[in-house]
Amino acid sequence: MVKFNSNYGNLKESYLFFNIAKKTKAYLEEHPGTHLYRMGIGDVSLPLAKAVIDRLHEAVEDQSRKETFHGYMPETGDPDLREDIREYYSRRGVNLDTGEVFVSSGASDELGDILDLFDRDNTVLIMEPAYPAYVDANVIAGHRIVHLPSGEEDGFAPMPDEKTDADIIYLCSPNNPTGAVFSCEKLKAWVDYAIRHKSLIIFDAAYEAFIEEDLPHSIYEIEGAKSCAIEISSLSKTAGFTGTRCGYTVIPKGITSGDLELNAMWVRNRTTKTNGVSYIIQKGARAVFTEEGQKQIRENIAVYKQNAKVLMKAFDELGIWYCGGKNAPYIWIRCPEGMGSWEFFDRMLNELQIVGTPGEGFGKCGEGYFRFSTFGDPEDTKEAAKRIKKYFS
Ligand SMILES: *Cc1c(COP(=O)(O)O)cnc(C)c1O
Repeated sequence: MVKFNSNYGNLKESYLFFNIAKKTKAYLEEHPGTHLYRMGIGDVSLPLAKAVIDRLHEAVEDQSRKETFHGYMPETGDPDLREDIREYYSRRGVNLDTGEVFVSSGASDELGDILDLFDRDNTVLIMEPAYPAYVDANVIAGHRIVHLPSGEEDGFAPMPDEKTDADIIYLCSPNNPTGAVFSCEKLKAWVDYAIRHKSLIIFDAAYEAFIEEDLPHSIYEIEGAKSCAIEISSLSKTAGFTGTRCGYTVIPKGITSGDLELNAMWVRNRTTKTNGVSYIIQKGARAVFTEEGQKQIRENIAVYKQNAKVLMKAFDELGIWYCGGKNAPYIWIRCPEGMGSWEFFDRMLNELQIVGTPGEGFGKCGEGYFRFSTFGDPEDTKEAAKRIKKYFS
């Protein structure tokens, strides 16, 4: 008799986005034709850079001629793209071997697939508030989960607690939803903890390209991290690849447990479970790492950053506490007047026609907070900021 993975029964209903959609729909049914200011989106809104589009077109043409046609690509990624990514890291002083870089179809895919490398008997520490996929992927894998709450006192970038014995640790910096970024000192504390406890850090660097202050983009900027951390990153937010799909994962060589070595295990996993990322997409992705591509993706990021400035100015003027915005495409505010997350959501929707994301949906310690995304339309963002300012002043 077939036995299903019973861990699926332990998944909590993901009511956050469902509830937002339900409330928004109800509002529009009562007020047909109303324009809503959508400040909740966790997706990019600007098109791909021209350099990328040109390469994608070229790649399609390549596939039309016998001489340039590509069949299966190497499972771990196009060697040229792996080399581009290695160089991208080396520009920041991080020295990797090309064999430590794996091309992926995106970070979410990797965050789930990577759990193949670990025994079921692991305690996983997940910082909160966090991207909901970390918890769900680990519930499906049957791991024990320990939540590490964060708050204003630690700037939503928590420090390790020696009393907690975690085998696997999820860190996301810049963080979704809070926009908080770990400093070198804080990351060093985590790396030291991982080395002492023989644990492994899974570092989600999906938003590294939004960092503008002098803060670490990669965990490998921290001494010792190559012995205890893997890094999962993506071109989704960096270069608008959310619908195009390409990312990369770094697994340093030499991380071992008994006879097993993590990098070799991942090579074996990929060669078994995938036939790699599409030739066309990888050729497009290579354009991101060219000088021209970097310049163009920075122009798109600058649009989102301008949105962030508009919103931050409004919150500054109102004296509303927030973090993020500066080094991340999210601004995380403390709801004014002591409102709860959903209470604030309803007020925003019903009185200002603004849709954002209640912080509570990202974990208990997000209650009383609210996430604004800066991926929206610039004109809508300006109008939303104006409405918020008028309403709360
Ligand atoms: C958007 C996002 C990603 C990227 O996911 P993709 O699957 O690459 O699109 C990864 N981590 C976090 C925290 C995100 O918000």
